Amino acid sequence: MKRLTIPKAKKRLGQNFLIDDYAVAQIIQLIKPKHTDHIIEIGPGAGALTDQLVHTKASITAIEVDRDLARILVEHYADIPTFKLHNSDIMNFDLGILREQSTSWKIIGNLPYNIATPLIMNLVALKSLWSEMIFMLQKEVALRLTAKVGTRSYGRLSIMAQRQAHISYKFEVSAASFSPQPKVESAIVQFRPLETKKNPEIDVYFEKIIRLAFSTRRKTLTNSLKSFIPTDVIKQAGIDPKSRAENLTIAEYEKLALKVLDIVGQ
Ligand code: SAM
Repeated sequence: MKRLTIPKAKKRLGQNFLIDDYAVAQIIQLIKPKHTDHIIEIGPGAGALTDQLVHTKASITAIEVDRDLARILVEHYADIPTFKLHNSDIMNFDLGILREQSTSWKIIGNLPYNIATPLIMNLVALKSLWSEMIFMLQKEVALRLTAKVGTRSYGRLSIMAQRQAHISYKFEVSAASFSPQPKVESAIVQFRPLETKKNPEIDVYFEKIIRLAFSTRRKTLTNSLKSFIPTDVIKQAGIDPKSRAENLTIAEYEKLALKVLDIVGQ
């Protein structure tokens, strides 16, 4: 299939088009598209990844906000019955589509960097509907998503995402692989949903604790949580109140949230 010409990029839509065949091949190798797959591609752009995906006869649902690109893509893939495009902003798109088909989706995309974090937070919360997500992200966001406890990058994003999914940092893609070149480095990250049953009643407390703890990450938990949880309760949860936010594991935050739930429920 003839490749689309790279259009003039619209900066406000985070358009940095992949022009490096080796990087495209590496990403496709990771996605391993099969004809039985149902794939959602966010921001197909000029089709760098899409061209490779449609070959496999997998069912592709692409969501592209740029009206000009959407028109070009619909024309370009007019003969491909397994390709469907929605000209929509993914942030307003009804992700209920994921529920319409009794299938487990693969969600992929070279994401516009300005929406990557809120989008990922929405998608990890829908983890029962997908089997895998593979995204190209700003390297710094990729590092935060995959950060281990006790490291500088470990924070609210790491915890909220890792509570729902196993996330692996795959490889980097240099700025020279794009046109125009972004100012930041990029990396590929893979998400697999965690099967473990969570305790949904603690979610509200869990989220509040994480927000408070990391709003002043250099302070001890006693200080950062004092408007919400007395030091005694932190101790009763088996946690050292002198610890700092970045030194607590997800399981420890869950224990603390459970303790709060116990007390509130009494
Ligand atoms: N996938 C292409 C590639 O790898 O060359 C393009 C990637 S480019 C970084 C991001 C793409 O997402 C652009 O095509 C852009 O128009 C689209 N986009 C930006 N914001 C979007 C949004 N809110 N919803 C859907 N698509 C969006």
